[in-house]
Amino acid sequence: MTKHIFDDAPLQGGLLAHVQECRPQGKEFCLILDQTIFFPRGGGQKCDEGTIGGIPVLDVYEEEGEICHILPKAPEGDEVLCRIDLGTRLSHMQHHTAQHLISAAAWQLFQNLTIIARMEDPWGHIEFQRPMEDEELLALLRRVEEVVKADLPIFCRYYTPEQAAQMDVRGKITPHERIRLVEVEGFDRNACGGTHCPSTGLVGPVRFVGSKMVRGAYRLYFAAGQRAHDFALEQDLRTLRLGKYTEEESPEDCEKHIADALHRLPVLEESVQKLRRQLLEQTAENLFRKASEQEAFPAVLQLLEGWDKKDGKALCDDLIHRGVRFVALGFAEGESLGVIAAQKKSKKMMPLGRALKEFFPAHEGKGGGSDALGQGTVPLSAWDDFAALCAPFLRGEGAE
Ligand SMILES: [Zn+2]
Repeated sequence: MTKHIFDDAPLQGGLLAHVQECRPQGKEFCLILDQTIFFPRGGGQKCDEGTIGGIPVLDVYEEEGEICHILPKAPEGDEVLCRIDLGTRLSHMQHHTAQHLISAAAWQLFQNLTIIARMEDPWGHIEFQRPMEDEELLALLRRVEEVVKADLPIFCRYYTPEQAAQMDVRGKITPHERIRLVEVEGFDRNACGGTHCPSTGLVGPVRFVGSKMVRGAYRLYFAAGQRAHDFALEQDLRTLRLGKYTEEESPEDCEKHIADALHRLPVLEESVQKLRRQLLEQTAENLFRKASEQEAFPAVLQLLEGWDKKDGKALCDDLIHRGVRFVALGFAEGESLGVIAAQKKSKKMMPLGRALKEFFPAHEGKGGGSDALGQGTVPLSAWDDFAALCAPFLRGEGAE
């Protein structure tokens, strides 16, 4: 069985190990060593990154008591130099240890049980049984900070299941031959196979970075160490930017400003919808009257401004429904022009689809359609050409 050097020496970055076995596995090789500093992925922690014999390690996992190091090629010789990326390891350790501290403090303070925990990029997360309010989160973070500041020693020791059952352990113990208990002296004891800091002080700053409800559980995202520090700096910039957007001096006023605006939003949304409906009805009425002036062949061409594309299509449908034979509308928006043209279905329809098929590419636009309905977007300067294209259709030439 491979000796787990990372259990007792989590900060060891290099090791000379002997190759016990090197077997091909698909296009890659699975390397078994007598001892290793590579933590295999599992228990919510990713595996270590690094090299063996100068070859990058692609994956490390445990299978039937063996630790498989996956390499793209076999290393030379029986003795190999293993190196892990200590920066990544330190970040894994800080996040894993922070998770123990947060879970333990949530249990001690509020009896809020951790369901699962994951140390993924960019943040770690813990899923709790119950959501936590602001005051609880603040108390939780304060407690974690106290424990970090106290720099309590952390021990990892193996026990038999019988021994572990006699001890005061937080959370579930998954049945194993040997139980690895992680103990934060005088604070917490929990079964875990991950890599942890030798003492709580090494965790560094801890920040809560987000939360959401997932399948009835409260998921709390957190960062530790350098990542927590970076997050705090980014957060300061976000606060300053929000102050600029809202033109508020203090973060408190800024938050109130945003909350008020969000509160007003549904009311404004409703008013806008109402006005849009009124505009649509009124415009449809006006354009129908204009089209009806051509008694023999009711048709209309109109350029409109400040219209939503969806409303444009509704307006077009409304006019055709009222009996207008040909409708051509343009919607100006900045330097862009949305166009829509439709004709009432009849026995012999005018070749609208063909005309539009040529029109859009000839005017650096995008669009297409059939004889019944076509739409697309062109530069605003193409309006006169669009009107010219529509002229014979407006007179109903060739329609029955
Ligand atoms: Zn752990």
